[in-house]
Amino acid sequence: MPHFKKIFIATAFLLSMIHGVVSALDPSDDPLANYAAEKVSENTWVVHGSLEFPTPQNKGFMNNPAFTVTDKSVVVFDPASSLQAGEGLLKKIKKITDKPITHVFISHVHGDHWLGNQAIKATYPDAKFYAHPQMIEAANDGEADNWVALMENLTEGATKGTEAIVPDIALSDRQEIKIDNITVRAYLDDWAHTKSDAMFVIPEEKVLVTGDNVTYRRIARMSDGNFQGNIASIEKALETEVEIVVPGHGPTGGKEILGIFKSYLQTIYEASEQAVEDDKEPYEVKAELLPSMDAYHKWSGFEGEFGRHISQAMLEAEDANF
Ligand SMILES: [Zn+2]
Repeated sequence: MPHFKKIFIATAFLLSMIHGVVSALDPSDDPLANYAAEKVSENTWVVHGSLEFPTPQNKGFMNNPAFTVTDKSVVVFDPASSLQAGEGLLKKIKKITDKPITHVFISHVHGDHWLGNQAIKATYPDAKFYAHPQMIEAANDGEADNWVALMENLTEGATKGTEAIVPDIALSDRQEIKIDNITVRAYLDDWAHTKSDAMFVIPEEKVLVTGDNVTYRRIARMSDGNFQGNIASIEKALETEVEIVVPGHGPTGGKEILGIFKSYLQTIYEASEQAVEDDKEPYEVKAELLPSMDAYHKWSGFEGEFGRHISQAMLEAEDANF
């Protein structure tokens, strides 16, 4: 075989190898391509997103979009972080049913949970979008634009083209919305993970969608949150008649995951209250508390958030003392 021909074959082989590796990592522009829609109850599916923060690799997909198929339509909860992720979710839904998406429920103002609205609106212009009244206000007040820019920045342009479709139907606490053969009951908080949180129960499915009031195997950021309010919201969730809990981030589980995250928040808050009384510094609390936080050491984000959470909980405990 002539030398150049050998080189040509070797190069072609190498190129096909590289191409194979690249396409295994990135089979398409669909941020959900490497994630499955997992059935969690009779008619409800969840696509469990990455446990990381937004990166060019995960294209900003990091939450848990969920959907329930009714006898006539599809109800979506938190349709992910961008136009592209929303389109990916539509593809997943279409593999399961041809029924149209008619209702969309948003858990809170953080854009990783709802910027996928745009894809739904484009395909189903009549779909109704619901959220906490404070979610709607904050999003229209600048948070929507902040999140569009933040996502594009952190993903280095992977979410380009995303426009915020802000929900326009305000929910009230314990409101029940009948959709075909199912019900969606909203639980609203004044201040938990944010000042805009709604959790959703679908009683017929025994499913609770918590938004970021509850996370599992990933530590939630609390920079917009309130420890006491978040603990109270989880106590409300514990009283609901559900068996399946879909957290804002991390795997779906049973009601036990409510207790696991509540215990994280409560351990920190109670130690912080005591530390304020004893006049201790946050770093002392951190050192004392660390050995008892074994269950959370491996959670994504623990390293970065734990110290911050103690400082914040101590400020909150100080405020509560006055
Ligand atoms: Zn959040």
